[in-house]
Amino acid sequence: MRQRVCILGSTGSIGRNALQVLRQLADDFEVVGLAAGSRWQDMMAQAREFKVAHLAIGRPEYESQLQGELNAEQKLYSGEEGLVELIEHCGCDCVLSAIVGTAGLMATVRAVEMGKKVALANKETLVVTGPVITELARQTGAQLIPVDSEHSAIFQALHAGSAEEIHRLYLTSSGGPFRTWTLEQMKQATPADALAHPVWNMGPKITIDSATMMNKALEIVEARWLFNVTHDQIEVLIHPEAIIHSMVEFRDGCLIAQLGTPDMRIPIQYALTYPRRLERCGEPLDLLRVRQLRFEPPDRARYPALELGFQVARQGGSSGAVLNAANEAAVEAFQAGRIHFGEITERTMEIVGRHKWIEHPTLEQLLAADRWARNEVHACLTC
Ligand code: NDP
Ligand code: MG
Repeated sequence: MRQRVCILGSTGSIGRNALQVLRQLADDFEVVGLAAGSRWQDMMAQAREFKVAHLAIGRPEYESQLQGELNAEQKLYSGEEGLVELIEHCGCDCVLSAIVGTAGLMATVRAVEMGKKVALANKETLVVTGPVITELARQTGAQLIPVDSEHSAIFQALHAGSAEEIHRLYLTSSGGPFRTWTLEQMKQATPADALAHPVWNMGPKITIDSATMMNKALEIVEARWLFNVTHDQIEVLIHPEAIIHSMVEFRDGCLIAQLGTPDMRIPIQYALTYPRRLERCGEPLDLLRVRQLRFEPPDRARYPALELGFQVARQGGSSGAVLNAANEAAVEAFQAGRIHFGEITERTMEIVGRHKWIEHPTLEQLLAADRWARNEVHACLTC
């Protein structure tokens, strides 16, 4: 029987890559649900091609235009609750969670509550609700399969040993657009500079996060929850070629790495087909063309976000929700030209430092911490 997939964020970078993968895997998968934020025409074109009956639009202002385009079989859900309704009604076995930020959070939580398989691209879900969603998945039997390339690599490498045998996880990073820039140059960086990633072609939010290394900070927290390790079992390595996607060091000193061309279709396909491996998508890795693999320690002075990631991974509780929300609001302010590049991390650190930490938060408390952090960033902008 074909696996039924719902894609949250089908019009984004991950969503479009996923549909490319699924186009090749039509014998094994059927797309039964799609959700987008504003690019409703793109979603409609996808729905026609893949014959999808259940659609959701996150921004309700586009609902009326979309209604006019639907055929008799299609059903439309709208707004944040609409994303949750899509999960409840589309009849999927697997949800690809690829909406940027926290907009798709409740729909992803619903998928976990319903015990579905969740291919998780949206790292914010684990950063914000890590302590709650991992416990929920344990209770419902929902599988959380990482799509983020580093976590997919670790997930694959972990098949070589048991959880008790992990010594350390190495998260690799290409170094982003400012790897060779000085601190002074970085202070002057514009949104266009930050959006020019040397390796990966991704959505704007994660690309800016890669420039500040907040992306790696979020990934440290993501790894902490996903693999149930402590912050001091996680190491970050700069690896400019972006061929080794991450590694696990086991207690006998053996390192198991996953290598591949930097192409998100590979971890997306693996997450969808897990535990099987199907035919390759994209270019094979030619090591004779790559020739060298370099490693550098990260410069913590230029990238203070890394320290913050370790701090939040150590604290756990409500810290991740505050880190993510403050950063998301600060990135928006940077894109709008309201703050300088260096202020993204500065403000996020300051707000994380000020929040009233809750050790064992409920989902409601995490959402309240998220709202508080966003308000603090906005209040700082007007003071
Ligand atoms: P994009 O910006 O390219 O796409 C974001 C998607 O989210 C779009 O489909 C967008 O819809 C949708 N969206 C935004 N707001 C809403 C809303 N309110 N309701 C419903 N849908 C909404 O981002 P990426 O694809 O790059 O990233 C998606 C997630 O995957 C992020 O969490 C990112 O951290 C993670 N990720 C991405 C990687 C990558 O290579 N791109 C790698 C690893 C993780 P629309 O465009 O129609 O408004
Ligand atoms: Mg990543």
